[in-house]
Amino acid sequence: MGNLEMLLKEYEKKRDNAIIQADLRKEDLYKSNPKLSEIDSTLSKEAIRISKLLLTSNSPELLEELDSKISTLKKQKSAILNDLKIDESYFEPNFECKVCHDTGYITDNINTTMCNCLKQKLFDIEFNKSNISNLKHDNFEHFNSTYYSNDVDENKYMSKISPKQNIEKIKNICLNFIDNFDNSEEKNLLFTGNTGLGKSFLSSCIANELLKKGKTVLYQTAPVMLDTIVDYRFGKVKNNESSNIGNDILNVDLLIIDDLGTESMNSVKFTELFNIINTRILNSNKITKTIISTNLSLQNLFANYDERIVSRIVGNYNICYFFGDDIRFKKRNAL
Ligand SMILES: [Zn+2]
Repeated sequence: MGNLEMLLKEYEKKRDNAIIQADLRKEDLYKSNPKLSEIDSTLSKEAIRISKLLLTSNSPELLEELDSKISTLKKQKSAILNDLKIDESYFEPNFECKVCHDTGYITDNINTTMCNCLKQKLFDIEFNKSNISNLKHDNFEHFNSTYYSNDVDENKYMSKISPKQNIEKIKNICLNFIDNFDNSEEKNLLFTGNTGLGKSFLSSCIANELLKKGKTVLYQTAPVMLDTIVDYRFGKVKNNESSNIGNDILNVDLLIIDDLGTESMNSVKFTELFNIINTRILNSNKITKTIISTNLSLQNLFANYDERIVSRIVGNYNICYFFGDDIRFKKRNAL
C-alpha cells in the first residue's frame, strides 16, 4: 500500500471515530436529560413539517405559528444547555484537524487541494530527517542559556558579548522569525558556527512552532536534499500522486537545509542549490522561508560557494553566528 493510501485509511478511521464519539456524547446527554431529547426530536419533526409546508401550501398563519413554536423550543433547549454548562460544540465531532475535518482535503468553489496536515504527514514519512514528530521535545521550553559561558573573550570568540548573551540574542531572532513568518519583509535565517552550539536544536524549535501554526516543514541535510533533487531532475525518483519532491522543496512553507558544507559539490548541485535559494526568495504566490545551517565559517562559505549563492544569502538572510564551547556535554550531564 502506498503512503498516501495508508494515511487516508488512518484519516477515515480518525474521522469515523470522532463522529461516533460525538453521537455517544449526545446519547448520554439524552439519557440523563429526557426533556432535552424530547425537545430535539420535536424540533426535527417541526423542521420537516415547515419545509413540506413551504413546498405545498401557502398558509402564512400556519407558518408563523410553527415558527414561533420552533423558536420557543430553541429557547428551552438553550436554557437547559446553559444550566448544564454545555455549548453547541459539544454535539460536534471533535476532529483533529479543524481545517479539513480529518478528510485530508480542502475544497473551495473550484479546486480540491491537499490539506497541510496530510501534506506534512507525507513529508515526515517520505523525506524529513528523523521524523519531525520525534523532535517534538526540541522546543523553546527546553532552551537554557545557562549552558553557555558568561565570559566575554574578544580574542577567543571575536565578539564583544559573551556566548550566553549571544545565544539569547539569537533566540529572540528566532522568536521574531516565527511571529513574522507571514511577513514578506522578514528575512530568512543562516545559522553558522561549530557543532554542538544549538543550531539544529533551534531549527527544530522553530519547525515545531510553525507546525503548530499549520505550516508545512521540510527538514533535511544538504547532502540528502541535493542528491534527492538531482535524482528527481534526472528522473531517477518516480513521481507519484502524493509527492513531487522537486516542487515541494521549492514551495514548502519552511525549508530547513541542515549541515550545508558537508556535501560533495559539483556544478549540477551548485545550480540546484542556487535554484532552491533563489526560487524560494522570489516565490510570489505564497510566503516561503528557509533556514540554512552550516558548520562553515562565513569566510569558508564564501570561498567554497558560487558568488551568486553567497550574494542571495547576504541580501536576504539574517546571519546568526553561534560561538562558545560545545554545550552537548553540559547538556547531557544536566538531563
Ligand atoms: Zn487537515
